[in-house]
Amino acid sequence: MRCGRRRGAAEESLARKGLGARIRQILQGGREGEAFFEELEDVLIEGDIGATLAVSLVDELRQEMGLRRTPGRDGVIELLKNRLVSNLRGEPLELDPNSLNCVLILGVNGVGKTTTIAKLVGFYRRTMGIENIVLAAADTFRAGAIEQLKIHGDRLGVRVVSQAAGADPGAVIYDSIESARSRGKGLVIADTAGRMHNKANLVRELQKIDKVARGRIGDGVYRTVLVIDATTGQNGLRQAEVFGEALEINSVILSKYDSTAKGGIAVSISRTLGIPFSFLGTGEKPDDLEPFDPIQFVDSLLEG
Ligand code: GDP
Repeated sequence: MRCGRRRGAAEESLARKGLGARIRQILQGGREGEAFFEELEDVLIEGDIGATLAVSLVDELRQEMGLRRTPGRDGVIELLKNRLVSNLRGEPLELDPNSLNCVLILGVNGVGKTTTIAKLVGFYRRTMGIENIVLAAADTFRAGAIEQLKIHGDRLGVRVVSQAAGADPGAVIYDSIESARSRGKGLVIADTAGRMHNKANLVRELQKIDKVARGRIGDGVYRTVLVIDATTGQNGLRQAEVFGEALEINSVILSKYDSTAKGGIAVSISRTLGIPFSFLGTGEKPDDLEPFDPIQFVDSLLEG
């Protein structure tokens, strides 16, 4: 895994330094004991880990270090690495090559849902040889979303099932699954609406889509996947909670990891909600998608 990130002038600024650089900075500043732990807490919060989790992680670290003098730089970073990894869940988004699979893509507008859908088409074609792929344009609220999915579909050479803007998204899912099923085993990837400002409507709509998809897919594999934009910080936890009220989320994809020096939101969501991460979005191009590996992810978080 490359965990690729854009290295630009902005990243050189103190505020955008990664966790590892900030921790090394505290250590080089000679901080010891409580002063060190307090600063470490602040750095973890800055890194989007969230206040509550940062406090408990530092408490755990404090216990592990037995309130001894701060060990050397490498020792502290190693201990923290272990704590972060043990709080992260990574799990591949496994499909069944011998049945019809359906993946429902959830997330707030702009997080990278349609881009991620295009990347997943490439990934499952490449790794599992799935050719019968149908994209379901079930965000019928925005005409732009339907158009965008069609553009991806044309470019990738996959069918896109859509209806006019304003149509029933459940009907789009139904048609998509039936269309894919007429050609046997394969994969339906569905785009869904993500307007957070009308939460009650969103929850109702997603519940309906979920019910239709779950019912139609029958014995096939059905997965709900939430896309979280790594640059939105702790707001991502709130998003996961709202979508989690509507339906059970099976997996999270962290998009735009190339655009931030942070990434603690993955630890926060894993530990607070117990949802595993399956992929990391590392750019705008079709191949910029990497399977999520907790150890490599934490290494990349702390290397910066
Ligand atoms: P949607 O509204 O959730 O469908 O979001 P889009 O797929 O349209 O993506 C919104 C913007 O984010 C677009 O400009 C994408 O190119 C960009 N984007 C999506 N994923 C990534 C990623 O992993 N890295 C970067 N740098 N940009 C991304």
